[in-house]
Amino acid sequence: MQHTIQHRPFILDQLRALLRRLPVHHPKYEEVLQFYKRFDAGFAGEQSIGYHLNFLRDQAFIYQGLSLELKEKNIKFQVDLILVTPYFLYIGEVKNYSGALQFDLERSQLIRTIENRSEVFACPVAQVDRHARLIKLWLQQHKIPSLPIIPHVIVSNRRAQIAAPPHHPGIYHSDGLLKQFDRLIQTYPKRVLSKNQLARLDKQIQLSHVDTGTNLLQRFDLHVNDILGPPRCSSCRSSRFIPGYQTWSCQDCRITTRNAHVSCLYDISLLINEPLKRKAFNHLLEHLSKQSILRLLRQYAVYDGKGYVLSPEKFPASAGNTKV
Ligand SMILES: [Zn+2]
Repeated sequence: MQHTIQHRPFILDQLRALLRRLPVHHPKYEEVLQFYKRFDAGFAGEQSIGYHLNFLRDQAFIYQGLSLELKEKNIKFQVDLILVTPYFLYIGEVKNYSGALQFDLERSQLIRTIENRSEVFACPVAQVDRHARLIKLWLQQHKIPSLPIIPHVIVSNRRAQIAAPPHHPGIYHSDGLLKQFDRLIQTYPKRVLSKNQLARLDKQIQLSHVDTGTNLLQRFDLHVNDILGPPRCSSCRSSRFIPGYQTWSCQDCRITTRNAHVSCLYDISLLINEPLKRKAFNHLLEHLSKQSILRLLRQYAVYDGKGYVLSPEKFPASAGNTKV
């Protein structure tokens, strides 16, 4: 089938932008940083199973990081891994947890123990089972014949120690994925989808992926003004810049940069999609002349009658390359 699609979650770019915009001493900075680290580790875990997925490319359509929506129920959900075959549809919830993992399915909780300290997490089995129900409804909504749906949990961290009830075989290390897949091929030999139906499902999945990100300001109870500080140096985070001809030099670490103001606007475009007044930009880019600011807004924003809305797709790819 030779078909692998991997989506990088938009929220990761948004979190990076928020960390670049938020002053380090802001009371919410540490909370955002910890949230970002967890999310980034999760994404690294999803990527790390890529090696195993290479072996399945001839047998399944592979989708990683899909965001789907059940329109009539107004539910959005993100699935780490979907493998579509003509016989069944596999959903994988990938977790990158370390330590000793005790899956308590009766009580729908995951207890992780590291160095005698225990922590309780939401149960990934309950989560993937919920996704299986949603996928079933999604297939019905798109008039795709009902396939057996197999929800499994993949632990991508090799050093994690898994303890799970023996009656639930669908929890394993990523090294077990190929063996499980072979077992499923044997368990579900009946072809459900014709070649055309399979192609239609593939097309529908690709069309349906919508990742509009998250309103992080709302999520962390932040105000727009919290992120409208001046552009910062990508090297030392100082905001003491001297603008020169086409370059800015940092007064603290002496590094010169061409696009500190563009990167700053790009970060804001990922976090705010409501119109901002000219005054906000004049304050934000006080180093620049009013004409330069207007030129930047014409290039990267749309005027909607109330103010300027920055749009991420208007920026060059390099605008998001600065480090957190
Ligand atoms: Zn600097």
